Amino acid sequence: MRDLLVIGGGITGAGVLRDAALRGLSAELLEKGVPGAATTAASTHLIHGGIRYLLYDRLTTHATAWDAGNIVKTAGNLLKRLPIVWPVYKGHTHGLATVETLVAAYEPFQRMKEGLRHLRLSAQAVRELVPGIDPDGLQGGVSFDEWWVDAEGLVAANLAAAEKLGAAKRVGWRAVGLLREDGKVVGAVAEGPDGRREELRAKLVVNAAGPWIDPVARMAGLTIPLRLRKGAHLVYDKPLVPVGLLLAALDAGRFVFVIPFDGGTLVGPTDLPHNGSPDEVRADPEELEYLHGSVKRYFKDFPRTWTRTTAGARPILGQGGSEKLLSREYQVFDHGTEGAEGLITLGGGKMSDFRLMAKDAVDLACAKLGVDMPCITEALTLDGEQAAPRPVFPRPSPMLKNFLRRHPRVRELHALAHLGAGLACHTLRALSGGLKVADAAEFRRHYGL
Ligand SMILES: Cc1cc2nc3c(=O)[nH]c(=O)nc-3n(C[C@H](O)[C@H](O)[C@H](O)COP(=O)(O)OP(=O)(O)OC[C@H]3O[C@@H](n4cnc5c(N)ncnc54)[C@H](O)[C@@H]3O)c2cc1C
Repeated sequence: MRDLLVIGGGITGAGVLRDAALRGLSAELLEKGVPGAATTAASTHLIHGGIRYLLYDRLTTHATAWDAGNIVKTAGNLLKRLPIVWPVYKGHTHGLATVETLVAAYEPFQRMKEGLRHLRLSAQAVRELVPGIDPDGLQGGVSFDEWWVDAEGLVAANLAAAEKLGAAKRVGWRAVGLLREDGKVVGAVAEGPDGRREELRAKLVVNAAGPWIDPVARMAGLTIPLRLRKGAHLVYDKPLVPVGLLLAALDAGRFVFVIPFDGGTLVGPTDLPHNGSPDEVRADPEELEYLHGSVKRYFKDFPRTWTRTTAGARPILGQGGSEKLLSREYQVFDHGTEGAEGLITLGGGKMSDFRLMAKDAVDLACAKLGVDMPCITEALTLDGEQAAPRPVFPRPSPMLKNFLRRHPRVRELHALAHLGAGLACHTLRALSGGLKVADAAEFRRHYGL
């Protein structure tokens, strides 16, 4: 009998399979479709810390940026540094001082993932770096960088690394039920592409089905409330911008990325509530118009004919409060406490902290199996080589973390207090003439373009 049966072959399940295999557990993964082709492929393809969470949830930025640094060290050529320009116009809700304060506040987190310091850019520099951008009212810009990732490649590389160590995967196999013995979960019933069913027994089942974790949990009579948020992108098969852009969108307060990748361009994402099944996630015509309209504000001739679109549902954990304050934290659920011993679910999180999510789930699995093997996914590259060492970064106190998790309003105040202090420092620097403005040549040197 296998130690682990993993349900779901997106980045979360693939990360769990590799971690388990590296600890010597025998593991098998079920994927009903194509590995990585669901939410993971529909993402914006960024390994990032989450600059926008700095507005209300600094600790998630901290954890995500820290684990993003591990991914940078281990995923090698699947990642590419992506310089991003955030142009600022007269009349925008966020002026240059606010934008620079936010980007500067991101810098301690950037260091965890080998990000570079930001630059403040003149309007002339933005025009030179982004030919065709509307010059009317352009006041300048601020740059920062994230990592573009081949998301499906990252899934494939995690699965391949696990398979090399003896793990197995079944593609086109859907878990349609869970096997129970004396109340315990002891495996799953899987249906293959030809409709054939098999009972797959395992000591533990890990539910890593992303936005489908609730339907899988329901097979054990449990429910995991989610607040799914749909996101769509336009994908062009031609290069349309030379650098990444973060643009204030048509509706105040929202932003869209324009991202150059492998000769193509990605525009998005949207962020809308999704109340149906994850199987029904589609990009609506209005969403696509919204994305196109948001970019057309800046580029008069931005093409209306995109090659394809993507849509996915962010698997955000159920929580109260406004959409603006939704935490992207992940949680490992031990369903043993709810009468379904043997079932573990991984919910929430981002692609950028998938390794940490997998570690926590496999730590729990090892504790249940009585296996004393530490996680080593950050120490080896996906090719199995020794990963380069990283500096040690201080961690936030678990007490503060737990407190802020329970009080979203205080969590927001905590974040805003940090930003307020940052804005005060920025103002003092501006008054003392300490703000430097970079030109296009410095930008290119800085990001190695
Ligand atoms: C629009 C959008 C943009 C995003 N951008 C980013 C970003 O830039 N950076 C970032 O870090 N995160 C981003 N995210 C979040 C990130 O994409 C997700 O957190 C992550 O991809 C979730 O991976 P997953 O493996 O949990 O889910 P999925 O990738 O959806 O994988 C779950 C898998 O489970 C399979 N499955 C479901 N039920 C069963 C079953 N019964 N039997 C067998 N298999 C089953 C599905 O077929 C699917 O392949 C974005 C999300 C969205 C929607």
